[in-house]
Order: sequence, then structure tokens, then C-alpha cells
Amino acid sequence: VSLAASLAVTACTVGPLLEEGRAEAVRPVAAAVETARLMGTVQALVDGHAADAKVDCSSLDLSLIDQVRRPVCALSNGRARELVRQRLGALGLTVRDHPTLDATFPTTNVFADLPGTTRPDEVVLVGAHFDAFHQGADDNSSGVAAMLEVARVLSSRRFARTVRFVGFDLEELGLVGSTRFVEAGESEKVVAAIIFDCVGFASSAPNSQGGLPGFAIPTVGDFLAVISNQASEREALQVRALNARLGLMRVEAVVAPATGAFPITGNLMRSDHSPFWLRGKTALFFTDTANFRNPNYHRDTDTLDTLSPEFLTGVTRVSAAATAYWAEEVLP
Ligand SMILES: [Zn+2]
Repeated sequence: VSLAASLAVTACTVGPLLEEGRAEAVRPVAAAVETARLMGTVQALVDGHAADAKVDCSSLDLSLIDQVRRPVCALSNGRARELVRQRLGALGLTVRDHPTLDATFPTTNVFADLPGTTRPDEVVLVGAHFDAFHQGADDNSSGVAAMLEVARVLSSRRFARTVRFVGFDLEELGLVGSTRFVEAGESEKVVAAIIFDCVGFASSAPNSQGGLPGFAIPTVGDFLAVISNQASEREALQVRALNARLGLMRVEAVVAPATGAFPITGNLMRSDHSPFWLRGKTALFFTDTANFRNPNYHRDTDTLDTLSPEFLTGVTRVSAAATAYWAEEVLP
């Protein structure tokens, strides 16, 4: 049995994928996403990384680190973290720090809750890492901007469930911030999560999409990859169905076998959703597939002008709609 065959998407057996009325009700949420705001936020983040002090790499044994794929001495996080803090606060949300003191890798995740009205103990989480190599336009200012725009659009509305917005620290050094966040118990109430990592790069050129070993995906890099494990498969299919209904963009659902924690699926485990999967939590990884599509991955050429504003807008619209759908908007 080939891996591709074993990954065939299974039909959902319990009820319809989407509730008609609620799916239609999130249309205005998607429409409220603004391209100019998104790109303005990416610009501010990129400028911040360019001007920021780099993390102290003097204690690291650089001979053990691949400086091409992981240029650790070009990593920054301080100004981007401050921007996340300030933007979430400006929406009227109470912003909290989740600091971990550590001699080598101190981290401070930043998060804020939009409290649910009737089921506040059920959390829909939207997260992205704010640390970046070089200017980090695609990786991951695009994801942080998407998270902040979803927060802006949702914060003027009310939902039955709590929506939690998170900026994760030091993803690039091995999912450090998100792992600590989950280990601290901050994921316990999560019923669904969207994690953004690299959501701004697209191309319509033939063969612009590299192959993802073990998975059948298109060869043109103009789609959003929605990556799930089996426990999160229904939510991945809901995103795809919601996107189709709202007519937003090209979405491909990629489902990893079982928990997702297999060596062959290592490429699907490379971001902050991974600690959630390992904790048995429903989480989706939204990505343009990073180095499988973007030649600027982890290079100083990962700049704003290489991004597609239309693509980033589409991703953010799908995400705002899915988050609102799961959180269940309380309509007046
Ligand atoms: Zn990243």
C-alpha cells in the first residue's frame, strides 16, 4: 500500500460537514479582512526585524548548526513581540505574557483572549511565531499579520466560545515557545487551533511548487496547504468546504496519518501546531509550504516585495471565517 493511498481522505460519517446557516453567517467576517491593513502590518514587522538586535548566539556551538537552513545569528524577536503585544492591546483585549526563564533560550509568548459568552471554557486558538531570520517577510511576518488581522476582525464581535490569539516565541530554534506554552497547560481548553507559518508566498508558474515527499500535491504553488493529522481531519475538511462555499482561494487539505508523529511526516510537523498534536489537541497548520515553494526561505531575500497580497488576504479570510465558525458568533 502506497502512502498516498493510505492517506486517502475518508468520508465523514457523523452529520453534515458544515451547518448551513452558520456557514453562511460567517461570510461578513471573511469580507471584513483588509489587504492594506495586512500588508501594513507585514511592513511594520519586517521593519522591526531589520532594525532589531539579533538574539545572542555566542553561547551556541555553531559548528553543530546548519547556518544555511537555520542562520541563528540572524534571528530577532523583540520588536515583533512588542508589536503583537501593542496591537492586541489596542483592540481592547487583555494581553498576557507567558515567560520562561532559561539561561540559553529564554522565551516570552504573548497572548490575549476574546472571552466566550456562553462557553468560555472552550477555546479556539489562532497562533503564529513572531521570531524571524533576517527580515522574515513570509517566515513569519505574514503569519503574524494574519493572526493580528483575524484578531481585529473578530474583536468587534461576540462568540459563544473563547478565541485566543497567540504570538509564539523562538519557533525557529525548535518550537521552543509553543512547546512551553502547551507544557504550561495553556492548550488544555483548546477545541480547535489554526497555526500560521509562512502564508504570504504564491506563484502561478508551472512547477513552482516543490513536491512534499509522501504526499500528492499540485505542482503550481498557488494554494494554501491546510495540514492536519487524523484527529484534526474533520476541521481540515470544514476549512476546505467553508472556503469553497465562500469562493475565496485554492485550498489543499493534507492529512497526516494517525497522530502525525511519524518520521515520514516530519515535514508536516515543522511548526507550532506540532506540540498541540502531541498533546492530542485539534490543530491545523496553515502554510504556503515554505521551502517547498519559496526560494527565499530563511534567506535575507525573504522580503515584503516577494509576497502576494492577494494570497495573504485569501488565507486570512479563510482563517477568520473558520475561526468564527468554530467559535460560534453570537448574533444580536
Ligand atoms: Zn516559520
